[in-house]
Amino acid sequence: MFVLSANGEMISTDYDDDSSVITFENAEDAEYRCEACGESLSEEPDGYADESGSLVCDAYDPYEDPEIDDVESAPDFREGPHRPQRVPLSWANGATIHTDPGEDSITVTISVGDPRGAFAFTLRRIPDDAPNNGGRLIMHTPYPGEPMPHVELTTAHTGTYWVG
Ligand SMILES: [Zn+2]
Repeated sequence: MFVLSANGEMISTDYDDDSSVITFENAEDAEYRCEACGESLSEEPDGYADESGSLVCDAYDPYEDPEIDDVESAPDFREGPHRPQRVPLSWANGATIHTDPGEDSITVTISVGDPRGAFAFTLRRIPDDAPNNGGRLIMHTPYPGEPMPHVELTTAHTGTYWVG
């Protein structure tokens, strides 16, 4: 039997069959956050705006602005732009681990594109009474040229792909 744990802590579950699914969803939908004021930012045609729509950062400090060589020509304190920084893991919608005793399989899915889909990685055992390869493990992974891919893959080298 499988038990679920996250970061070493057991997760209590309440399910009828032995199939278990654990899903991690990304609660953060901002792709950028301001390094100076910490606000979530959205990319606008004329710069990065905070949630109130302002392009001006309340925590702007010309001495910390990497874009500025000469502080004399920089905007004043609290009058410059936000400093966007990519939010780690913001490229992922979420990830799921699904153990399925009925199929004798474990599937890991990671969604980075259309949130209705995901890359799926499955390992399963061929039933002992199968005509060929009975009892062997087989692995299915996404691959370049796959019909209806979650995101198009390009081979960087064997087993490593550029996504999109
Ligand atoms: Zn800011």
